[in-house]
Amino acid sequence: MDRKPIIFIDGGDTLIEEGSNDRDPLTDIVITAMPIPGALETLRRLKNEGYTVCLIDNVKSESVSNVFGINGHIDCFASISTSEETGASKPSKEIFEDAMTKNSLSDDDKPDIIMIGNSCRDDIAGANRFGITSVLMDWSPRYNMTPQTADQVPDYIIHSPGEIFDLLERIEKRR
Ligand SMILES: [Mg+2]
Repeated sequence: MDRKPIIFIDGGDTLIEEGSNDRDPLTDIVITAMPIPGALETLRRLKNEGYTVCLIDNVKSESVSNVFGINGHIDCFASISTSEETGASKPSKEIFEDAMTKNSLSDDDKPDIIMIGNSCRDDIAGANRFGITSVLMDWSPRYNMTPQTADQVPDYIIHSPGEIFDLLERIEKRR
């Protein structure tokens, strides 16, 4: 493979600190939220280096446009797939298929795709079942990081957004 990996990535507790979410009490839509340290710099650098980064998040679409609109980094995503828009939540394959369609990707591209997220149940099992590389980011202690089933075991583990670059180097070397 001579192509850069394509990055599917989760939002809550992977790029945005969920504990900082300020929600509208009536709609439950997130109005503002703080990024995880290094997350925005990482998104910008990935875009500048030509990586395709696709947000795949179990959230309402307006929460994404609010949070990444305010922080000025929504342009870093090649596509945004939310559970609200697709009617399916990770680990269901339909939300991953939405990102595939939006980026004109096919099954042949799956060896090039990595999914980064903080949830063994949603992100890792979803990626493993979908047939793409799974990367657990265990920055947040909010959820249990111990796989409960065989399909929740990640291919790689990183600890912060900034480690994505070392990971990409490792993955590209292994090819
Ligand atoms: Mg998450």
